[in-house]
Amino acid sequence: MPELPEVETIRRDLEKKIIGKKIIDIRVIQKNSIKNSPTYFTKTLKNNSIESADRKGKLLILKIKENEKYLLIHLRMTGQILCCDTDKKIAKNTRVIFIFDNSQLFFNDTRRFGYLRIVSEKEKDIALKKMGIDILDKNFTPERFKELLKHKRKSLKSVLLDQKIIAGIGNIYADEICFDARLQPNRITGKLNDKEIKKLYNSIIKIINLALKNRGTTFNDYLDSSGKKGNFSKFLKVYQKEKEVCENCHKKEIKKIKVAGRATRYCENCQK
Ligand SMILES: [Zn+2]
Repeated sequence: MPELPEVETIRRDLEKKIIGKKIIDIRVIQKNSIKNSPTYFTKTLKNNSIESADRKGKLLILKIKENEKYLLIHLRMTGQILCCDTDKKIAKNTRVIFIFDNSQLFFNDTRRFGYLRIVSEKEKDIALKKMGIDILDKNFTPERFKELLKHKRKSLKSVLLDQKIIAGIGNIYADEICFDARLQPNRITGKLNDKEIKKLYNSIIKIINLALKNRGTTFNDYLDSSGKKGNFSKFLKVYQKEKEVCENCHKKEIKKIKVAGRATRYCENCQK
């Protein structure tokens, strides 16, 4: 599932590739991928253009020119956004196509949990308000992070995954962050000491930025807007590494357990 580094990579690509370009036509192949009526969706976007591309957590927020409306895109499990030439053929999992003068933009989604939705400015603000702070937000400081963790009786993993607390982390980076901070994912958040919280904060910033620099992680479906895989896979230390010997201590195998209902990998020797 695409997390902050993957969605931010796509956002930066879209900024270069589609901003200001006239949308000549829209083809809705799977209407369930759109949370508006296909007629309204097409009418609002056709002969119009995207003015800016923003992101909060894993949500893409595209401002539609001249009508105070926004196109929200969530990739969920298997969503992909691909910018391609006009002669590119529809794939089996293509759900929506945006047609520009010299290019096309495909929204592909095998599992069909992803969506596109046109909203008003007010609806957009309500949706964003429900989300926690984005990791790349300048207000995401060590002090703010400490405030967010205070008194929480939940496991570290569940807090990292909770988009209403911090927006952008999913299963891959949650495990990698806990390993980097040398903290067990099932620790109770409210019981972490100041030193551990500081370490955890630094690991979040470090891992997310390193993943972003490497254009994300590809395990199954994630591709960037040019159809290329993310390079962070080679930096993974615990995710999908169960039964492999820990790279850090070389003593124990990486364990796979369930925390917060999700498969979780960690090293019992390195993580306390
Ligand atoms: Zn270890």
